[in-house]
Amino acid sequence: MILDPFGIDTTHCLIGGEWAPCKSGETLALHDPSDGSPLCAIARGDAPDIDCAVAAADMAMEGEWGRMAAAQRGRILHRIGLLVGENIEPLARLEAQDVGKPLKQARADVIALARYMEFYAGAADKIHGATIPYLDGYTVYTLREPHGVTGHIIPWNYPMQIIGRSVGAALAMGNACVLKPAEEACLTALAFGELARQAGLPAGALNIVPGQGGEAGAALAAHPGVRHLSFTGSVAVGRRIQAAAAENLVPVTLELGGKSPQLVFADADIDAALPFLVNAGIQNAGQTCSASSRILVHESRFDEVVRAMAERYRALRAGPALADFDLGPLVSARQKSIVEGYLDKGRDLTVAARGTIDGDAPAGGAYVAPVLFTGAAPDHVLAQDEIFGPVQVVIPFADEAEALAIANGTPFGLVASVWTADGARQMRLARALRAGQVFLNNYGAGGGVELPFGGTGLSGHGREKGFEALYGFSTLKTVAALHG
Ligand code: NAP
Ligand code: MG
Repeated sequence: MILDPFGIDTTHCLIGGEWAPCKSGETLALHDPSDGSPLCAIARGDAPDIDCAVAAADMAMEGEWGRMAAAQRGRILHRIGLLVGENIEPLARLEAQDVGKPLKQARADVIALARYMEFYAGAADKIHGATIPYLDGYTVYTLREPHGVTGHIIPWNYPMQIIGRSVGAALAMGNACVLKPAEEACLTALAFGELARQAGLPAGALNIVPGQGGEAGAALAAHPGVRHLSFTGSVAVGRRIQAAAAENLVPVTLELGGKSPQLVFADADIDAALPFLVNAGIQNAGQTCSASSRILVHESRFDEVVRAMAERYRALRAGPALADFDLGPLVSARQKSIVEGYLDKGRDLTVAARGTIDGDAPAGGAYVAPVLFTGAAPDHVLAQDEIFGPVQVVIPFADEAEALAIANGTPFGLVASVWTADGARQMRLARALRAGQVFLNNYGAGGGVELPFGGTGLSGHGREKGFEALYGFSTLKTVAALHG
């Protein structure tokens, strides 16, 4: 299929600035999760294609891209961002069909991608080394340099945002990227590659090889020519990526999701909290690494919060992505069966409320009605595992110490939020919560591209987004000159 209006063939890879089929010529079928119908075919890239992509990236580092002034790199990134911004509607529709996300959420992703490019465009020439006072007769300075070829393996839940935060930052620092998008959602990645080409990104600075994780993904992770790996996805695959990185002794950034809590204290402004409590659980049908799947509420306000959340849940509707309901389908029938497996494990809990699937939603779609549970002990599987679906549990606590123990009582540590008017409590908990981001009286802060993001524990390590990402996507060289 030719991607309209980008004019590229969905079965092609982008290698060395050229679109072409993968070496085997094999393809994989994509489906629209809103109705299960065939959408198009994509390339089934594998190790030989990854070899070519890494070689093309290497050549880019040796050529025009590697020698380009940082300010010029920034101008190109800026142009990419402008082109993304001129294509909000086609990109959003593509993402809605491919991933199943409601149009308004897909539009927000496109706008975030444009904003990432704008942010990293501006940052490209603003990260630099230092001179270091040292012994008499020496001049010492540091050089901030790209790693070289960087590998980017991304998931299907937010392809555009994750391209923005990882590829955007890597390009800003002058690396040449090889991107392996998720098999289940790679159309906007392909469109992005074409927009980058049109914006004047030199050949080989961004190469895109779609394919299966165990084939193209594993080949990219293991490739000795790749000098840095960035991965977002599951804990199980994250472990494999880190093992592959260990073989080649290259740095790796892992973002592996979480079980992020919101702590609601007795003095919280419940009306202000409510939309955040619910939306953070059901946005993108709960398939969000920073989804808030645990709501911890002081026992004095527990019934009130559950009642108010339940009322909102009963009004939630899931339906086709292009019809723009509160929730779309899950990304695939496979993801739906994972989530239904968890709902089954929640049979001993109380269903406080359930949303609905629109009556006209096609039977072949991967729909799951959102479910709000109570009655889960903090160690219940639904309060411990990342479900990656529209499922939240509400758990009571008696005091701050118990709230903190429950909040920190999973192996994850990505995001947390605290709802309280007590400033001292805010400061204590901001320090004590095990998470890469803590929000006080909000959740997510609108997702600003400026805000460093990443986790601890099973949520992974390394930081993307903000200026911080630029340090991860570069390396520091110390130069010491003895001149007397
Ligand atoms: P996944 O397998 O970890 O997929 C993430 C990316 O890794 C995809 O591009 C995938 O390619 C690739 N991949 C898979 N196996 C690989 C391997 N052996 N070597 C290199 N790359 C490989 O995630 P999933 O199976 O799609 O989702 C399962 C669960 O992971 C979800 O239920 C959720 O809990 C978690 N998840 C978390 C995030 C997050 O944002 N942190 C995102 C997605 C999923 P293919 O998809 O093409 O096989
Ligand atoms: Mg898809």
